Amino acid sequence: MNSHMMAAVLYGKEHLQVEPVAVPTINRGDILVRVKVALTCGTDVKVFSRGYHARMIVPPAVFGHELAGDVVAVGEDVANFSIGQRVVAANSAPCDQCFFCRHGQQNLCEDLLFNNGAYAEYIRIPARIVERNTYLIPPHVGYSDAALVEPLACVVRGFEETVPKEGDTIAIIGLGSIGLMFAKLAKLYGCRVMAIGRRRSQLERAAALGVDELIMVEGESNPVDTIRSLTHGRGVDIAIEAVGKPQTWQWAVDMVRRGGTVNFFGGCPNESKVSLDTALLHYSEITCKASFHHTPAYIQKALDLVCAGHITASFFVNREEPLSNLLEVMRHLMSHNGHLKTAIVP
Ligand SMILES: [Zn+2]
Ligand SMILES: [Zn+2]
Repeated sequence: MNSHMMAAVLYGKEHLQVEPVAVPTINRGDILVRVKVALTCGTDVKVFSRGYHARMIVPPAVFGHELAGDVVAVGEDVANFSIGQRVVAANSAPCDQCFFCRHGQQNLCEDLLFNNGAYAEYIRIPARIVERNTYLIPPHVGYSDAALVEPLACVVRGFEETVPKEGDTIAIIGLGSIGLMFAKLAKLYGCRVMAIGRRRSQLERAAALGVDELIMVEGESNPVDTIRSLTHGRGVDIAIEAVGKPQTWQWAVDMVRRGGTVNFFGGCPNESKVSLDTALLHYSEITCKASFHHTPAYIQKALDLVCAGHITASFFVNREEPLSNLLEVMRHLMSHNGHLKTAIVP
């Protein structure tokens, strides 16, 4: 095998370069994967535009975290994978020993091991992720479909945390690929879905997923009244915020019914604040939740949904580009909110 490969290196704010770097060397428990597809992610776009991420990556570093590919080398201690297998590896693995892991909150692990470097010809999957969070891709599932499991796992977990029931009415604010995954999932659970977005193209995609009501937000208009009029004035059972802005967090609280549940799924910029109407929260018994990241059990659950054909790349990935175009792709995604994913083929 060659000693060098092409890989995207993130140097800082809006600064990345696709350049030759050494093919990663692997340790006893690691595997080396030839990346077949890496998907862009809203988080990567944020990291690119801000130049940092508190937990996931410290530049300069190889970049990208949603991938599927073929195993091309295995460390001597690896028993469960062999060369030639098609795999999808999550971007993290918990320690399974700290306080949070022992309390069933592996997503909050104090020593969560993150892996980046999917925008490259090869990526090293470290031993802990090989052991706890790497999966075989069945022959009937494509690489792009399989690579959806990481964001999908976050969404499935976030959705289940709101304890949805069949027949519930769910409002989803924000129709990027995450919001659309929530919409699809809510339909699978037999819920009535109200999709709230700013662009016609987003609403058309939501319609194609079978949502029940489409609500277009224009200018300074506010979707709360529309939601109330569609629910006999009551509000929705569950509101999912998938934008990451204080204003939309506020909307989510305002559109939920008495006894309803809000999930603040979208992370706002650092130091954002929202104000709470304490009487509303108290007397209306509103449950506020937030969800961050995923656990291995949810990666497995997401993979099951993909393997069953419920979630496919055809709905969530709308472009394919070579690795050499990554800089243009990131710039494009930065200037277009609420986009779908691009499949990067190294
Ligand atoms: Zn992601
Ligand atoms: Zn832990």
